[in-house]
Amino acid sequence: MKAQAIIVAAGRGSRFGSDMPKQFLELKGKPILAHAVAAFEAHADIESVIIVGAEDWLFYIAEDIVSKYGLTKVQKIIPGGKERQDSVEAGLTALDDTSLPVLIHDGARPLVNAGVIDRVLAGMAEADACIPAVPLHDTIKRVQGREVVQTIDRETLRAVQTPQGFWPEALAGLLQQARTEALHVTDEASLTEHYGGRVHWVEGDPANLKITTTFDLKIAHLILEE
Ligand code: C5P
Repeated sequence: MKAQAIIVAAGRGSRFGSDMPKQFLELKGKPILAHAVAAFEAHADIESVIIVGAEDWLFYIAEDIVSKYGLTKVQKIIPGGKERQDSVEAGLTALDDTSLPVLIHDGARPLVNAGVIDRVLAGMAEADACIPAVPLHDTIKRVQGREVVQTIDRETLRAVQTPQGFWPEALAGLLQQARTEALHVTDEASLTEHYGGRVHWVEGDPANLKITTTFDLKIAHLILEE
């Protein structure tokens, strides 16, 4: 199934202690965001890409990522918003074609591969949204302060990744509704669930990690070296 991608990279959080947001740090000589965009650039079913960035990083994205690495599927580079949801909404508004499914991807996940993109797109045929997910290997407990209050059956749990697939008009409607109700979520599929849509999951990839700490960056380095 043909699709388009929105890559959100407008976050400023830097748990690395550097001035540069994590999605621009280098991984094997290339910015993390460039790796993420390149995966969509290389996928035959992806027709176009929109990058959402912080206003003061748009020039850097255009010059040092899109031009430098010849990312020709990038149609627009647009400013994001305060929360991730606002950035996704800005990306959806910028789409020229609302008939194709859209994959929303974190700019901080550089190791996404074609297999994950294929599976999410295939899953879109029978759901309102489709997300990649991986099993949990640690036992998960709910805590309150220093006290452990519950152990959750990990067999029924999954850790969720991106890209997440949606139908553009449906997701735009959910984001608008969430905004009027001041509902904040950490991924867009939560909105589809919350408002009664059908979300399916497909196998993600343990290597498709989100770079959050310097430890993640080291792991990503090792994976790329293989
Ligand atoms: O902060 P977190 O790691 O959850 O961010 C996930 C992705 O969302 C990152 O790629 C980040 O750049 C993006 N984001 C955004 N706009 C925001 C906040 C986060 O595009 N306001």
